[in-house]
Amino acid sequence: MPRFSVRWMVAVLLILLVGGAFFFCEYLIYFPTILKCAWPKINHARGGGEGIDGRPMDSAVRAMVLSDTHLLGAVGGHWFDKLRREWQMERAFQTALWLLRPEIVFILGDIFDEGKWSSQKHWEDDVRRFHRMFRHSTDTELVVLVGNHDIGFHYEMDWFKLQRFEKVFNASSTRIVTKKGVNFLLVNSVALHGDGCPICQSVEKELIKLSRDLNCSLQNSQSGSAVTDSCEGSQLYPPTPPIMLQHYPLYRVSDAGCTGLDAAPPEERHLLFREKYDVLSKEASQRLLQWFKPRLILSGHTHSGCEVLHDNKYPEISVPSFSWRNRNNPSFILASVSPSSYALSKCFLPEESTVIGVYCSAGACLLLLFLAHCMWMKGLLQCLSLFLLGKHKSL
Ligand SMILES: [Zn+2]
Ligand SMILES: [Zn+2]
Repeated sequence: MPRFSVRWMVAVLLILLVGGAFFFCEYLIYFPTILKCAWPKINHARGGGEGIDGRPMDSAVRAMVLSDTHLLGAVGGHWFDKLRREWQMERAFQTALWLLRPEIVFILGDIFDEGKWSSQKHWEDDVRRFHRMFRHSTDTELVVLVGNHDIGFHYEMDWFKLQRFEKVFNASSTRIVTKKGVNFLLVNSVALHGDGCPICQSVEKELIKLSRDLNCSLQNSQSGSAVTDSCEGSQLYPPTPPIMLQHYPLYRVSDAGCTGLDAAPPEERHLLFREKYDVLSKEASQRLLQWFKPRLILSGHTHSGCEVLHDNKYPEISVPSFSWRNRNNPSFILASVSPSSYALSKCFLPEESTVIGVYCSAGACLLLLFLAHCMWMKGLLQCLSLFLLGKHKSL
């Protein structure tokens, strides 16, 4: 075979191998993985067939819930780490939007890694990248919650950082979002320290108002048009208990009872959680449960998955981190929610170890290809000396 055609064949093989591995790992891999996910069906037996107001089940909201994206900042983030993680999250999110078409997406805080200390210039750069990565059509609503990395832990938080965050997302960090008769209650859990700080006071005041509004909405639906005096002037919402979303989980001792593919590693599960740091305080957790009686709580912050039942009636799901920087197997939640019921499923993203495995295999094939080509062209001995000792025959 003439030398030219062998070289040509090697070049084609090389391009196919390198290009194929790159295309598969950076684009294609997200499709088969996310295609396996589907919107869960609401169980008719649990009362999901019809909403409180008689809506049919197909009126359930399709909500996608993810958490802890931690877009790296200018101080602690290496440029390659940033490029890689943001590309992975962007591809995963865009593929999920395209294949699953959620009506609403919630991100449960820690959007930015360095929002707690970033300068205005770096903050604007982080925000610009966030909007590019999580771009979406007008058919999908994107709702973002605040986390301790966005505005700092309680001792670092101030009005400037909170208002900077709220301005970017054009909404208060504590509010109710209503969609198809479902109330999603968003809580600024960083401000539930209970020490009477000005931000804590303001958030608590807002929560008390929302709790009153929701209770009055329920009373109003039960007692017809008669509104009690204490409910005068309250804003009415659909009469259904809320789905509560926040960054910190409600108080739990540890992750000891957590199981599943994305639970914390066994050596970390028994570590005791610190109140107001890893989880909300017992007092703040009880207050939220009493005020709102949520039918489901979704939270982030721990970066691992867990299911907990509070007081034997309030289920809470910890949503793991969406970033490969925090875990090998990120995931997100798919929730079908009607006014009276809900169903959840978890969608795992490709594992980073799979991607690394594919690149390593492609590298090994590349090496074999070079060796085979070299042996074909120069013979075994000359080839081995070239590869092992780096000796070149001078021309
Ligand atoms: Zn986090
Ligand atoms: Zn956090």
